[in-house]
Formats: sequence, C-alpha cells, structure tokens
Amino acid sequence: MAAPTSEIPGPVVTRLAPSPTGLLHLGHARSFALAWAFARANGGRVVLRIEDLDRERCKPELVDACERDIAWLGLDWDGEKRVQSRDFAPYERACEELVASGCAYACTCTRAEIAALSAPHADDGEQRYPGTCRGRWTNEAQAREVSGRPAGLRLAVEPGPVPVTDELRGALAFDVAEDVGDFLIRRRDGAFAYQLAVVVDDARDGVTDVVRGDDLLSSAARQQLLQRALGLRTPRWWHLSLVTDEHGERLSKRRGDIALSQLRTRGADPRAVLGWVARSAGLALGPRVTPAELARALDLRNLPAGPARLTPGDIAGFLPA
Ligand code: GLU
Ligand code: ZN
Repeated sequence: MAAPTSEIPGPVVTRLAPSPTGLLHLGHARSFALAWAFARANGGRVVLRIEDLDRERCKPELVDACERDIAWLGLDWDGEKRVQSRDFAPYERACEELVASGCAYACTCTRAEIAALSAPHADDGEQRYPGTCRGRWTNEAQAREVSGRPAGLRLAVEPGPVPVTDELRGALAFDVAEDVGDFLIRRRDGAFAYQLAVVVDDARDGVTDVVRGDDLLSSAARQQLLQRALGLRTPRWWHLSLVTDEHGERLSKRRGDIALSQLRTRGADPRAVLGWVARSAGLALGPRVTPAELARALDLRNLPAGPARLTPGDIAGFLPA
C-alpha cells in the first residue's frame, strides 16, 4: 500500500455498515468486499455495524438477511456486530456534549415549514435549513414548552467550504452551510440522525478507514464537522465510484436480479461475484476469486476511476450454466 495521505496511528480498522432498509445488492457486495479486503490486506480489523436507527424504514427481518448475504460472500468480521438500536446512550451523550459546547441547538420547525422557506438543495434531497431556530430558544425544554411541539437538534454550521481529503478523489471541498445548512443530529421524533450515529460509532469502533460508496461523499464533510465539534479524529475516506448497469444508470434497488439473496437462492457462485469485484478493481485474477485472493491482490489506490459496470453478461456469469 502506498503511504497514506493522512497518518493515523495503529492498525487498520474498516467497517461494513448496512442499513436494513432493503436487501443487499451487488453494489453493496462490491463496497463491502473492497472494504473487507482492504482491512485484511493490511492485517486490520473489520467491524459489522447494523445501522437501524430509522425505525420507520428499517425492517428487523432484514438484519439476518444482511448477515447471511455478507457471510455468503465469504466475508467475515471481528467481534460482536454492533446494532445501533440496542443502545442509544452514546448518541444521547454526544448530543448533550454538542449542546453544552454551544455547537448544537434545539429546533421545532416541521419539514413543511422548512420546505416552504427553501428549495431542496443537497444531492441527497435534504432540505437546506435556513437557521430559523438558531438563537431562538434557550434550551430544548424551553423550546418544547413555548412551541408546544417536540424539538429536534441541529449542528450549527459555520459558512465556508469544508475541505475533505479523499484517498481516491484527492482534495475536495463541500459548502455544508450552503448545501444543507445547520443539519439535524436528532430528529423531532427523537431518532438520532445517521450523521451523528456514524460519527459516534466510527470513533468508538476505532475505525481508521471508511470505504463506502461515493453517494456518501458529501456526508463526509458533515461527518468531519461533527468530528471536529466532538474532538474526534477524522478517518481516512475512500469513496468508491458507484456501480452502474450497461446503460450507465445507477443500479436500482428495485431490480430483483441484483439482490444477493436472490442470487444465492438461484445457486450463484459467490466467487464469481468476487471475480467481478476484482475485475471492477482493475485486477486480472480470472473469473472466480476467493476473498483471500482478492485481499492479496487489492491495491485500493489503483482502483480505476469512473463507475464500475455491471452487465447482464456479468450477472449470467454468476449463475450456474
Ligand atoms: N448505512 C449506510 C448505507 O447503507 C452506510 C453508511 C456509511 O457507510 O457511512 O447507506
Ligand atoms: Zn427550526
């Protein structure tokens, strides 16, 4: 491995962080296999984290499905899996710390009120928050009492670009204040936001390297702001280009033929799936590849730029003849 751009002491720790909102598909297989292989290639650890804080969207039965799919690919993890919904205390403590340090504040605005004030802006469709409640309430209890509504919590975001160094993309910058504004760390229904939970857990799991899809690239800037506000180290970021179909369209989760559980029940060979992952990573290893072979050959820094293609021919090659 080439020298990292940011020195992080200690051994490599990566994580696989599925959200049990849908079945895992070949896009997940690729990012999980590359995250796993990167850790193993560096003698590092792999953490499995189930990101199930969004109670409306998560389905408990999908947790087992996620684990089965990951194990079917031949990827393992170290220690007990972390399930975010099992213990909210660490997220609660982080929120309290951010409020106490003046970095976060209570917000009673509804989505409809925010929508009326601003157009959707960020690429993930998040509404830009115009800062209505900044300085409006003395604290959460008072906000609830005076407004007669539940209160969420938002991180106060200072104007200006947030520099993000990605190991694959180089030096980038995101204007968080302009894109999303003061973003939610706890929703009004009490659910802790993904951005907060991921930062708390990456820190307590000692994650050194975040390897994930580049749909989360702009989230890295928000996560860095939270890390700074909480006095936590920023991990190295490796944002992988997305997987597209033969037409160059982003893989749709609704396509059944790319769900790992369906491939598994149709008798697909997981080593053929890893063979495709290896090809997409620019490795010439042949059609079937074991996890150990992938780890031995992988050089994440030499990943080809641009989207990874998945063609009907690739999928046919996974299935029995
Ligand atoms: N749970 C997130 C997802 O499935 C991934 C979060 C992350 O890797 O930071 O999209
Ligand atoms: Zn508000």
